[in-house]
Amino acid sequence: MKLKNPNHSAPDMAEAMQSIRPVICYSPETLPQPDMLAMTEARKLAVKTADITIAPRDAGCIEVPAGAFFRILSVDGPQVGDLNLWNAHDLTERFYSGKTRALHGTHVSTGDRVWSSIPSMRPMATISDDSLDWYGFDEFGGSVHDVIGTRCDPYTGRLLTGDDYHYCCHSNLTRALASYTGLPLHEAEVHVHDVLNVFMCTGFTRDTGQYFMKASPVRPGDYLEFFAEIDLLVGLSACPGGDCSSEHSSDTASCHPLVIEVWDPGEPARKRHQMPQVNAYSRTHGIS
Ligand SMILES: [Zn+2]
Repeated sequence: MKLKNPNHSAPDMAEAMQSIRPVICYSPETLPQPDMLAMTEARKLAVKTADITIAPRDAGCIEVPAGAFFRILSVDGPQVGDLNLWNAHDLTERFYSGKTRALHGTHVSTGDRVWSSIPSMRPMATISDDSLDWYGFDEFGGSVHDVIGTRCDPYTGRLLTGDDYHYCCHSNLTRALASYTGLPLHEAEVHVHDVLNVFMCTGFTRDTGQYFMKASPVRPGDYLEFFAEIDLLVGLSACPGGDCSSEHSSDTASCHPLVIEVWDPGEPARKRHQMPQVNAYSRTHGIS
């Protein structure tokens, strides 16, 4: 946080410097664009082929083939979900929250893509529909589906409270990945990564720039839907914070299940989908 009473006095040019208009770092128009029309056509053909229900304060994993859709659905009551994505064939290629934020902004919605980690760095999925797209940004600068949070985890809890709490999203995702893949718990843990906070309403305070959360506007029936650009392993935790209106990392909040549905447009449609190739950078890093 910035000092309320700075140790150094401002230079004469301070006001002129502070009034310079910002420029957008990455213009999204320059990125390879998703074919939303083809996606809409494929969605019309899709039928539900699988689903899992994720219990409160727990997580689950499900595979989604390239060219199919998956929908994260609110059921029973307001609940936020912490989403991890992996290449189904290589867990080291995983969702890159920081770059997705840099490319698309702090909160994502329809048409935005979720990008994978370096060196693959390619679209893993594209958001095909978002029933909360009406929310926009509220008067506090809050919005839904952020890529700014990390995930609630027992290590931060230990630092802050001195207690061990085992049902944070980090631990939930670790248990779910270990159980799904058969990896030992500690090997699975290193593949858990910063999340997309599905349905969570967050922002930064305007005066101090601090990360805040507020009650999620999600209601049963709301959903966030993705088109799988590559074969995916999807992990989702039903956060112990519930709707994250007060606290997380405890058993205090009222929590509800979440559902992931897989919608498959069929093999011919999936085969028509051109999977994004891994990033074309030479990886020579200036060494010839
Ligand atoms: Zn959480």
